[in-house]
Amino acid sequence: MKITVLAGGVGGAKFLRGLRQHLRDTLPDGSGGTSAEVTVVVNTGDDLWLTGLRVCPDLDSIMYTLGGANDEVRGWGRLGESERVSAELTAYGVGWPWFTLGDLDLGTHITRSHLLREGLTLSEVTAEIAARWNLGVTLLPMSDQPVETHVVVAADGNGVVGGPDAADGTRTMHFEEWWVHYRASLPALRFEQHGLESATAAPGVVQAILGADVVLVAPSNPVVSIGTILPVPGIREALQSTLAPVVGVSPIISGSPVRGMAKACLDAIGVAVAADAVGMHYGSRANGGLLDAWLIDESDASLADGIQAAGLRVSVVPLWMNTVDQAAQLAADALVAGNSRSSTSTGRSI
Ligand code: GDP
Ligand code: CA
Repeated sequence: MKITVLAGGVGGAKFLRGLRQHLRDTLPDGSGGTSAEVTVVVNTGDDLWLTGLRVCPDLDSIMYTLGGANDEVRGWGRLGESERVSAELTAYGVGWPWFTLGDLDLGTHITRSHLLREGLTLSEVTAEIAARWNLGVTLLPMSDQPVETHVVVAADGNGVVGGPDAADGTRTMHFEEWWVHYRASLPALRFEQHGLESATAAPGVVQAILGADVVLVAPSNPVVSIGTILPVPGIREALQSTLAPVVGVSPIISGSPVRGMAKACLDAIGVAVAADAVGMHYGSRANGGLLDAWLIDESDASLADGIQAAGLRVSVVPLWMNTVDQAAQLAADALVAGNSRSSTSTGRSI
């Protein structure tokens, strides 16, 4: 079985760890490797050059999580991390003091930057780096060309970092600056994808979507994770024409983005923080949208009829991924939803 997953960082990583667990538990060879092929198309909109190094936050979140090396308590980065190099960079006045590059993490960024400078593409580099971690899935960046997300905010006249005021009274900054430094507190006027015009989907991405038995959209940020993958030339078209069912998992439970600051992103594009609103924002494939089926949490069961009326099949299942087992069950439910022909399914027995 070929499974292709669209994913951002932390939410995507948790979902993928569950999917891998589910496949290991259920496939005859127990490996999840020979009977199931999982390809992950990863958001690279968060990527940036910092102190001469190429940093790819979402690729690394997934790699560390599936590699068993992530810091579960902090929720991101490497377990047992130290920050000696970062302190030196701050002393030299380079980099972003609020964007800590841990010492172990720097090993990844140095390796990636080295290989990129040797002339490898980002997908080639990603394959080389991931090989060390025995992930059990194939990671593909959405594009080999940089397509960085920038955020346009109103200029405040107080010297907001992130670039000079534009003539129209706005300022534009890299997504990570808006997200990490300003904690998404500056109202975003819009998101821009710099480099999109000259980008193409990375090798293997379109084929992975067209050749899949099922495509899963992870419960990742709909705006700055999944929303930045879809416009990469070739990807939306492949999602519309694939014969595989496309199944999405809501990142919103009971009107809350669960963890993190996704509300600020949804506010900026005028989509309510609600499982039905996000499902309808993705839209039904039958009506030119992205999805065939949409998983919502049991606490949102009352929204099912409205979503179904918009042309989506709905599954009502627990969406919390607090443990690997919960995430594995969620992945199993998503695969069932891909096979299901009924328009609404409730609970796990379908
Ligand atoms: P990022 O790139 O690190 O921000 O991570 P993603 O974009 O992959 O995922 C972030 C999103 O995951 C958050 O905005 C939440 O909406 C969602 N999320 C986090 N934990 C859970 C969970 O336990 N269940 C569900 N359904 N969604 C979650
Ligand atoms: Ca991210």
